[in-house]
Amino acid sequence: MYNKHSLVRKIPSSSIRCSGDQPSIQKFRLLSKGNYQIHTQTIKSKTFLPIEMETNEEAKKDILIGLTKGTVLAVSDGSLKSSFGTGAFVLYNQETGKILRGCVISYGRPSDQSAYRSELIGLSAIITFITTNVDKHNLTNVNIQIACDGKSALENIFDEWKSKTKTNMKHYDIISYARALIHKSQVKWSARHVYGHRDAITTELTIWEKLNVIADELATKFWIQQKFRYQNTLNLSDGFPTVSQQGEAVCSKLRKTIQQRSNFSDWYKWWETKQTEKGRQSTNLDLRSMKLAFLKLNDAMKRWVMKHSHGTCGVNVWLHRWKQLASPICERCECHDETALHIWKCEKSKEWHSIINSWEGWLRRYNCPEPDIEAYTATWQSWRRNVTSIRLSNEISVPMRIALTDQNKIGWDKMAFGYISIHWSTVLASWRGNKYAPSPQQLIKQIWKAGHKLWDERNGWIHNDTRIKQIKREVR
Ligand SMILES: [Zn+2]
Repeated sequence: MYNKHSLVRKIPSSSIRCSGDQPSIQKFRLLSKGNYQIHTQTIKSKTFLPIEMETNEEAKKDILIGLTKGTVLAVSDGSLKSSFGTGAFVLYNQETGKILRGCVISYGRPSDQSAYRSELIGLSAIITFITTNVDKHNLTNVNIQIACDGKSALENIFDEWKSKTKTNMKHYDIISYARALIHKSQVKWSARHVYGHRDAITTELTIWEKLNVIADELATKFWIQQKFRYQNTLNLSDGFPTVSQQGEAVCSKLRKTIQQRSNFSDWYKWWETKQTEKGRQSTNLDLRSMKLAFLKLNDAMKRWVMKHSHGTCGVNVWLHRWKQLASPICERCECHDETALHIWKCEKSKEWHSIINSWEGWLRRYNCPEPDIEAYTATWQSWRRNVTSIRLSNEISVPMRIALTDQNKIGWDKMAFGYISIHWSTVLASWRGNKYAPSPQQLIKQIWKAGHKLWDERNGWIHNDTRIKQIKREVR
C-alpha cells in the first residue's frame, strides 16, 4: 500500500504493511479516489448476512407466493445504542395479511456502529432474504416494494446510478454487498421512503407506517436480547472482499482505516522515542487538565497546539522533509536543526525574556513565594540552555520541590508542549492569598501561550528575511 505522506519514511516499515487475516484469497487493487479493481475472486462457500428468521413455515410459504405475485411489502429499521447496533425487517403480504419477521446484528467494531449502519444492515437483511429464497425455490417474475425511514441508506443501496461503489465510502462493505446481491438477482426492486415513529403523532397510519412501527419495535427488542454480542468480522461472499485486521472487519474508508490501524501503535512508540527525550517517565501526567485547557482554546489556537505538541509543524526540519526547503537548519542561529523545540531554545530569540518576566508576574499575582518563583524560572532557563543538573535550594517549598523533581523525570521537553506533572496542582493550590488559586489548566495555557509567542517571533523573522525567499525559489 502506497502512502503519500513523508512521515512514513521515518516509521519502521513493519508498521506500513497491512496484515489481513486471510491474505491473498481475493486480490484487489486499490486505485485512486476509492476506486478498485478485483483481480481474482475465489469463493469457497457462500456466506450471507446471518439473519435470525421467525420460524413460521406457513407465513414463509405465503410470503414466497406473494413475491411472485408482487403483493409483498418489506419495511426495515435499525436500532443503535451504546455502540451496539441491530436491524429488523417485516415482510407483509397485502393479499393475505400474513407477516414474516427477521432480525440481524450489525457486525463490525463498536466504533464502526452508527444509526445509519443499522439502517443499511436492516435493508441488506431484506435483500439477503429475498435473493437467497428466490434462488433456492427458483422463483421467477419476482417483484417487491421496500421501504425504510433512513433516506440516505435507501439511496445508497438502491440508487446506484448516483454514486459508484467506492472503498472510501462509509460502510462500503455492506453497501457493496447489498448492491452485488441486487445486481445478480432477477428481482424487480422498488424502494420508497417512509416516515418513522408516526405512531407518536397520529393513530391513522398507512400500512407502510404501521410496518415501520413493527420493525422499529422488533429491532429494539432484538437489541435488548442480543446486547453487546459483537460480531467483529464477517466474510461475505458478495460485494467487495472482506478485509479484516486482527480479526476485526474494516467497514469504512478502507485505505485510511488500514493506515490508521496499522500505523498507530508503532507511530506512537516512534514519537515517544524519537520526538521527545528518551527514557522519560510517562506516568503522573496531568492529561485531564491538559484536555480541559485544550477545550477552552479557540479553533486557531487548538490547531497550533495540536501541531506543536506533536512537533510536526512548519519548522524547517519538516519543511526540509516535505521538500519545501533545502536545509533543516534554523535560519536565525544557523547552527541547529530547527525543530519545534528549537523554537523554544534558539538563542537568537528576544521574546524569551519577556516571557520569563510575564511568568514571574503571574506567579507573584497568586502569591507564589519568591524562592519558588526563582526555582521555577531558573529550571526553565537551564532547560533552555540544555543544562540538565539543577540544584534545588533549601528555601524552596515542599510542594514545589516535589513538582520540580517529578517534572524533571517527565522532562521539560514535554512540559514545553503542555505535559505537566500532576503535582503542579498541589503547588498551585498551596499559595495562600486573597485570590482564588490558579488552576493547572491556567499553567498549561501559560506555557502554550509562550510557545505561540515564540512561534510568532520566529515567523516574523523568517518572513522579513529575503534570503529565505531566495532559497525557496532555488529549491523550486
Ligand atoms: Zn536557532
